[in-house]
Amino acid sequence: MKASVSDQNNLIELQRIDSAIMQATHKLKTLPEREQLTAIHTRLAASAELLTAAEAELTDVTIDLRRSEVDVESVADRMTKDEARLSGGSASPKELEQLQHEIATLAKRKAELEDGELEIMMKVDAAKEKVATIKSDEEGLKKLELELNIRLENAVTELDREVALKKSERTLLVPKIDTALIDVYEKVRANGGGIGAALLIGNTCDGCRLAINAVEMERIKSLDSEEVLRCEECRRILVRI
Ligand SMILES: [Zn+2]
Repeated sequence: MKASVSDQNNLIELQRIDSAIMQATHKLKTLPEREQLTAIHTRLAASAELLTAAEAELTDVTIDLRRSEVDVESVADRMTKDEARLSGGSASPKELEQLQHEIATLAKRKAELEDGELEIMMKVDAAKEKVATIKSDEEGLKKLELELNIRLENAVTELDREVALKKSERTLLVPKIDTALIDVYEKVRANGGGIGAALLIGNTCDGCRLAINAVEMERIKSLDSEEVLRCEECRRILVRI
């Protein structure tokens, strides 16, 4: 098969364009932001679950605290009433003794209840702190998500532009090359991992990076420059510099 030197050079240019399209397309599919966003979404879902549980716990301990406050108030009320009767002066000596005993019992009870209330208050504070921490983590994750989305969008726009540019270059270049040569190139490219044409650099095929043996090199040197060469190893079209 023969092709003009200009066609062969254009084929190498076409290969550069196709390689650039292939690289940009691969980058588009494997942008790290996609994986990072998936990880953020997993963490956000876990955080939402934690928040639901922490808020339920806060509601529970807040109810406990209210109950405890009511208990303390009711004991305090009874003590106030007893103390009023005690200082009222109308009670009999036996009643006075009973009242004093009851007040002492109530005071002990009140102290116990207040200790319990303090413990619950600490639980409420801890639950509030937990909710706040989860919310702040969530905010941080959402901020990161936003940044990643912007970065992803920018990267996609940039790569889409690159692909569109290279495709338009391709559209302009292809009609300048002989159709038969393009056909061979496309077939080889489909089987050659996207590389259909490579330069012959020294005695090395730039497609498979293997050295061409001395006998074959001698044969190549004797061939007309319009003769289309193929690498014996990878079958790619070889273009002499
Ligand atoms: Zn090769």
